[in-house]
Amino acid sequence: MRDLSADHALLSLNTATVRKQGDLLAIVEACARHGIRAVSPWRDQVAAVGLERAVRAVKDAGLALSGYCRGGMFPADAAHAQEARDDNRRAVDEAAALGAPCLVLVVGGLPQFSRPGSAPSKDLGAAHAQVEDGIAALLEYARAANMPLAIEPLHPMYAADRACVNTLAHALDICDQLDPDRQGSLGVALDVYHVWWDPELSAGIRRCGRDRMLAYHVCDWLVPTKDLLLDRGMMGDGVIELRRIRCEVEALGFAGFVEVEIFSNDWWTRPMNEVIETCITRHRTIV
Ligand code: ZN
Repeated sequence: MRDLSADHALLSLNTATVRKQGDLLAIVEACARHGIRAVSPWRDQVAAVGLERAVRAVKDAGLALSGYCRGGMFPADAAHAQEARDDNRRAVDEAAALGAPCLVLVVGGLPQFSRPGSAPSKDLGAAHAQVEDGIAALLEYARAANMPLAIEPLHPMYAADRACVNTLAHALDICDQLDPDRQGSLGVALDVYHVWWDPELSAGIRRCGRDRMLAYHVCDWLVPTKDLLLDRGMMGDGVIELRRIRCEVEALGFAGFVEVEIFSNDWWTRPMNEVIETCITRHRTIV
């Protein structure tokens, strides 16, 4: 297990963590000032400043990426299928331009939520099938662009609107189905917030192997949780056994960044410097 206590060389900041405090250029500047070496930006934050400026800012600051958020939202009705396909291809292109090591996929839930305007459906089985078909189709495009796809299983509370892949085992089943010879082009983004509760987590991590573990995200689970989406905790403020999970991930040989990803109505009200400094401290002492 790697020792994080001496510095924060392995810390990556998911830029949504401070999205309310500044635009991507301000976040990149703050990361550079705090000696953070990597970020994981969101598409809307990149779009807000323009892809070219974002690429230049990241490069000028000497930052690496730990991922790019996000592609996915595959379930759609027939009228929105083309939109889903084109949007995901653009996400791959942007990830490649930014030099991301992978494109994170939040796969989508029922079509009316994944692709607004789609005809309402309660057919979760059909959504599962569309997710698998969507990843299969995108995988060809992503392989040509040399951009690995990282399926992020989301907590089951998001099954309807964000992702109907809710366990690590389900994500790995899709990987095995679509990439049986493990070409390195398909894997998972493991976010402790989504998987910490799963009694099969340790077995799933071992099943990943190093080649399918493409990204590792940390935050904490607060009790009580006041908002389904925007009440993630700072590492150490909740109940997730962070060090044990990281130990299991690193036992695979995972050598990537530890990405801090916190969507929080609480932390979004605090100054950017305070949030970043707290992330650094907790990274060294808790993660
Ligand atoms: Zn995540």
